[in-house]
Amino acid sequence: MGSTNTIPKATAKRLPIYYRYLRYLHEDGKERVSSTELSEAVKVDSATIRRDFSYFGALGKRGYGYDVENLMHFFSKTLKQDRLTNVALIGVGNLGHALLNYNFHQGNNMRISAAFDINKEIVGTIQSGVPVYPMEDMVQQLKMQQIDVVMLTVPTSAAQDATNNLVEAGVKGILNFTPIRISVPENVRVQNVDLANELQTLIYFIDHYKADSDGEDILLSLD
Ligand code: NAD
Repeated sequence: MGSTNTIPKATAKRLPIYYRYLRYLHEDGKERVSSTELSEAVKVDSATIRRDFSYFGALGKRGYGYDVENLMHFFSKTLKQDRLTNVALIGVGNLGHALLNYNFHQGNNMRISAAFDINKEIVGTIQSGVPVYPMEDMVQQLKMQQIDVVMLTVPTSAAQDATNNLVEAGVKGILNFTPIRISVPENVRVQNVDLANELQTLIYFIDHYKADSDGEDILLSLD
């Protein structure tokens, strides 16, 4: 299948959704799926699905659809689900504990394998099966465990300092749960997660938009 270098961000964001459903179909013994079926299940219109898949050179055959197993393996590789990825967590407080406890256990090939904190009461303990190391050991541990993606759940006041340490440790991706926009060099990617933002967007959408028959959002009014 084709190159994945130039796919649009919106397409990339939909890949895990497609992958999850393809896995479900595969486990259910389904061999093929049409873009219409897929569309109904994942709530993305079928033209978008066809366009997304065409970026990967996956062109469904008319009257046949897509081969579930092929597509699932391809997405699995693209999403690096064919090998285990270790990630680290920085800041084991309320939110950190919740994430450790969840730890992506349901069949995802990702896991939090190390956590870091400055609190002496939890450093050196194991929380939800994950060892908590002192911040001083971070560079060494990240290198040893070949971790280049971390989740940042420290208080706002500590976010930039912790980020600077992470950059020094050679981290490539930070999932930032803190409310501040952290500064990083160009070679480090930051993804912000903000529940308040999401909720506000949802409330705004409910008030201002309605879905048309293709499931696309259309603007009702802008006041
Ligand atoms: P918390 O105070 O319970 O936990 C913070 C943890 O970080 C503590 O264990 C503390 O010892 C540790 N810590 C402090 N300074 C550190 C440093 N320099 N290096 C490493 N660890 C350090 O806070 P919380 O309620 O878990 O929230 C954590 C962060 O997540 C905050 O920035 C909060 O605003 C944010 N948050 C985001 C969302 C979201 O939707 N994105 C939701 C809730 C909280």
